[in-house]
Amino acid sequence: MVEDDAALAAVLLRGLRDERHAVDHVSTLTAAEETCLFTDYALVILDLGLPDGDGLALCRQLKTEGRTRVFVLTARDGLTDKVRGLDAGADDYLTKPFDFPEFAARVRALLRRPVTVGGTTIEAGEVRMDVAVHRVWRSGVLVPLTPKEFALLRYLMVRMGQVVTRTELLEQVWDMHYNGMSNVVDVHVASLRRKLDLSTSHVRLETVRRVGYLLYVR
Ligand code: CA
Repeated sequence: MVEDDAALAAVLLRGLRDERHAVDHVSTLTAAEETCLFTDYALVILDLGLPDGDGLALCRQLKTEGRTRVFVLTARDGLTDKVRGLDAGADDYLTKPFDFPEFAARVRALLRRPVTVGGTTIEAGEVRMDVAVHRVWRSGVLVPLTPKEFALLRYLMVRMGQVVTRTELLEQVWDMHYNGMSNVVDVHVASLRRKLDLSTSHVRLETVRRVGYLLYVR
């Protein structure tokens, strides 16, 4: 958390820690830049108005590198500032003053979402997908996928950390109704595991017996 308002920071830190989040806190842009160099955070909560500069530059840098989620907090409520924040790649944006329950709910929602880069890229461990150009890389190497494999992987990555049922995949990716017989999903999952070499990856694509699939980063 990058927040120079000591009273607000104290309230947010206490609340987040009560919810069992592990949180580091700094109060300047310089300290934030240094801290982010050495630690990979799941989420950066970033106040824009900091004593030594504007947090937007850090937001843009973090999102360009695609290393984390950024949740922007700001006292500015003008539409222009909101647009600037979102243009800088912020994953969410909350204007002060706000209530802790809403803040905490947004933090939980952000942590459930995959890390995105510059708006069109989704990352899971060694796997990176650019949704706009329909391309997938494994450890920086382009992996050719069929359109169905791509659509299946995209669905699983967007729902990372959640079990996705076969029924849902057939309806959403194949536009088919589940008849209890089709093994088309299983075949494509096997193909994704092989093409992305998931057996040597931190990305796990697990079969949940009788239910469906779960993609997560170990
Ligand atoms: Ca401030």
